[in-house]
Amino acid sequence: MLAAIPALSACAKKEEAQRSSYNISVSYQADGTLSGREEFTFYNSLENELSELKFNLYGNAFREGASYKPVSDSFKARAYYAGVSYGKMEISSVENCASWSVGGEDENVLTVTLNEAVYPGESVQVNVDFLLTLAKINHRTGITKNTVNLGNFYPVLCAYTQAGFVECPYYTCGDPFVSECADYSVTLTVPETFFAAASGREESSSVADGKRKTQYVLTNARDFAIVLSENFKVKSNTVNGVEVKYYCVGEDNAEAGLKAASESIEYMSRTFGDYIYPTYSVVETGFCYGGMEYPGLSMIAEGQETDDTVYTVVHETAHQWWYAMVGSDQLTCGWQDEGLAEYSTLMFFENNPGYGYTRTAMVDSATRSYRAFFSVYNQLNGSVDTTMTRNLGAFSGEFEYTNIAYNKSLIMFDILRKSVGDNNFTNCLKNYYNTYCGKIAPAEGLISSFTPCGKDLEEMFSSFIEGKILI
Ligand SMILES: [Zn+2]
Repeated sequence: MLAAIPALSACAKKEEAQRSSYNISVSYQADGTLSGREEFTFYNSLENELSELKFNLYGNAFREGASYKPVSDSFKARAYYAGVSYGKMEISSVENCASWSVGGEDENVLTVTLNEAVYPGESVQVNVDFLLTLAKINHRTGITKNTVNLGNFYPVLCAYTQAGFVECPYYTCGDPFVSECADYSVTLTVPETFFAAASGREESSSVADGKRKTQYVLTNARDFAIVLSENFKVKSNTVNGVEVKYYCVGEDNAEAGLKAASESIEYMSRTFGDYIYPTYSVVETGFCYGGMEYPGLSMIAEGQETDDTVYTVVHETAHQWWYAMVGSDQLTCGWQDEGLAEYSTLMFFENNPGYGYTRTAMVDSATRSYRAFFSVYNQLNGSVDTTMTRNLGAFSGEFEYTNIAYNKSLIMFDILRKSVGDNNFTNCLKNYYNTYCGKIAPAEGLISSFTPCGKDLEEMFSSFIEGKILI
């Protein structure tokens, strides 16, 4: 018998938790640089003291000579629309520390040695001055034809595990980002001809001396992103008290995109748990992949067909639950948030038949694609690694990654749902959300969220994750 699983209390309670905070002031100049100061207050919620802090400097992946290139060869032409171009992230000073250095595997980590150890329950503030030079590239961080993408634009504290700080090289497969939730106050100054879409709620905005200055706040978020443009058009809607905004330059997909964003926010809030941010901004922008998720903001590649835009909007909106609110280790468990985002997309379309997708067709499509991948790799190598939990650097390329992290994971969740039943499936996802909202969920946490459904689910998960099952 499968008992109904009661839903636990909402994530909003975690609003009261003590967290680290970023107080960031950045100024964008017409020469394509972003100068900034980050006053970072680290709150030690760990069980051990720390004598140093580490920050990922994702912006440095765009520099000339980087070992980890920002895109693979097959995406180069789509990314570098104006020929090869480079950027970089430079740290000019760090205040309130014993010493600091930039290093890591690919000049991608800022290490700050503190004046004295910070103990559990204590806080320490360090101030970092930085300069981000933007490449001309359709990517998370870069100047595109119509916009300026400011994803990962500031030094981001590395998540901390038993193995220490998680340093994230810029792998081309997947999203090489792992960070804990924090509170943000961001002040952005731009030439007055520019307008911004941002992760947070706008607190104030003023124009003086040809500059537009805007302050944003966002609490309990694991990242903060901004997109700038001189030509944005904006359409908006209110859903459950959340302001949903659609930013674009060409208006072809604006109505359809805003509708998909609004309806998916409404469906997913009802199905998985509250959307905890005050705004949700969906931004069409120059981007070399379909889309990219940040808390409170999704980048959607401009110039897509309407159907593809709608699909991408729903997928990225699902990441607000599976990545933004419920975090996971995206370096080794890409299947965890990508598979759930794909499966949530399937559930949304299944419940909104007007979009023309069916559950059967979506599972069949993923299965056909996965089998084609399996067959090709089997012919090439004589065997296929179908394990799901592995480092992003262990994938041979986007084709393998997509089939493992998206398609195989979607197939797994569909079989799981058939096994436990529809109501238990959604109730277990609600419990997963309630347990891990505002945190980083280990894969075991996702699996154990399903154990109240009974049966041998651990066995089922491991047969997929360890690559023992034939699809
Ligand atoms: Zn995704």
